[in-house]
Amino acid sequence: MDLDLGPEIGRFRTELRDWLAANIPEGLSDLTDWNAVMPGTGGGYDLPGLAEALVHPLHAEWERRLLDARLVCPHWPAEFGGQGLDPVRLAVLNEEFHRAGVPTIWRGMSESLVGPSVIMHGTMEQKAYFLPRIISGEDYYCQGFSEPSHGSDLAAVETQGEVVGAEILVTGQKVWTSRAARANMIFVLCRTDPAAEKHAGLSYVLLPFKEKGITYRPIKQMSGSAEFCEVFFDGAQAPLFNVIGGLGDGWRVAMTTLGHERGGRATVAHLPFEHEFWNLVETARTRGRTGDPLVRQQLAWAYAHIQLMRFNGARTLAQLAEGGQPGPEASTAKLFWSEFHKQLGLIAVSVLGAEAMVRPTGSGYPTTLWQNTFFSSTAGTIYGGTSEIQRNIMSERVLGLPKSPGPRETAGRVSTVTNEEP
Ligand SMILES: Cc1cc2nc3c(=O)[nH]c(=O)nc-3n(C[C@H](O)[C@H](O)[C@H](O)COP(=O)(O)OP(=O)(O)OC[C@H]3O[C@@H](n4cnc5c(N)ncnc54)[C@H](O)[C@@H]3O)c2cc1C
Repeated sequence: MDLDLGPEIGRFRTELRDWLAANIPEGLSDLTDWNAVMPGTGGGYDLPGLAEALVHPLHAEWERRLLDARLVCPHWPAEFGGQGLDPVRLAVLNEEFHRAGVPTIWRGMSESLVGPSVIMHGTMEQKAYFLPRIISGEDYYCQGFSEPSHGSDLAAVETQGEVVGAEILVTGQKVWTSRAARANMIFVLCRTDPAAEKHAGLSYVLLPFKEKGITYRPIKQMSGSAEFCEVFFDGAQAPLFNVIGGLGDGWRVAMTTLGHERGGRATVAHLPFEHEFWNLVETARTRGRTGDPLVRQQLAWAYAHIQLMRFNGARTLAQLAEGGQPGPEASTAKLFWSEFHKQLGLIAVSVLGAEAMVRPTGSGYPTTLWQNTFFSSTAGTIYGGTSEIQRNIMSERVLGLPKSPGPRETAGRVSTVTNEEP
């Protein structure tokens, strides 16, 4: 099914295809199955060979060519290093990269969460300083929102920010900080005015991460890996220049971070799931399980759900092409893929049966592909806002139903948090 997006978009697609044909380094698409990686969902990062492919010289060459062509963060404003692509063109770009079997260079939470907040709320000086450093890869951010007692109830954060002269000093604790080991920056929501009402008095600070006043400790997960950390701040410093949106206005900035959805992956988001599905069908075949009516039913369920994702993506793109903007309906997509994927993890281990209970031998804590899918898929309904929080958003902001008091009965609560994949 191809959507007719009009002649201008058709021209953009043709030019992009020509550029790809002329610029993809030979052998890049053979390094690994790039289309199995699922940016923003945490899936596919355990793909065999991916880690090696990401540090291969052909990948480095590809990154350089994309940077030269302003095809990293291409939807960001042209004056700060992007191309200002609208969501429809961005979706076409993602489709064409997928068709060519090559990766986009994706800057993780720096691209999907921090950048949009700086674009929306930063001063010209802040944009000019922070955005190009994300595009070039010089700065890589992790997210310091959740605290030991404040995950969904983000407005209750207790980490303190104290203004001393021209600096802000941050003291407190964050937890579940994904990719902390890789980051050199962290975006933190902290309380700069403890006397102010809950949602007021918060500030959004971009802090240098590996500097004095910050320590972090990896948290071991049930998959055996330790992709996230707890982070301790003891007077960690940043210039006031690093406060985005102004002191005391952090909640507004955080809401941009949480609500940012441009629909640029609308028509490709289902593809890695489809890829994974056929992989599971093959696993079922090799185990002689495809004749089992229950397995057939489970696989049919999974396929139907992936097609629903596909059609929903096409609907989103059609809306964008008509000038619509994605809004809180994005919660339906997050809820749908994460609940689907958790179920798929269960289907995968049930297809494998007893085999799924045996880990491979080897040092560390090795797991098989499907064991890892099973483990990691359980996290999808927690990070990026839990399923309950997505349902609240849909009921309150899409359907206009009355606010639920929630388990903690917090007055005036807007309870949501978004993190990208671990
Ligand atoms: C893999 C992974 C990566 C993560 N990465 C990061 C990161 O990089 N940075 C970061 O800051 N955080 C990160 N998180 C933390 C994540 O954002 C929180 O775990 C999430 O917001 C839930 O918060 P919580 O764990 O404190 O649970 P709680 O908020 O205490 O929720 C507990 C349960 O109560 C339910 N609940 C809570 N409030 C309501 C309500 N109002 N209505 C109905 N039900 C409700 C929740 O749905 C959940 O089932 C990550 C989490 C995971 C699993």
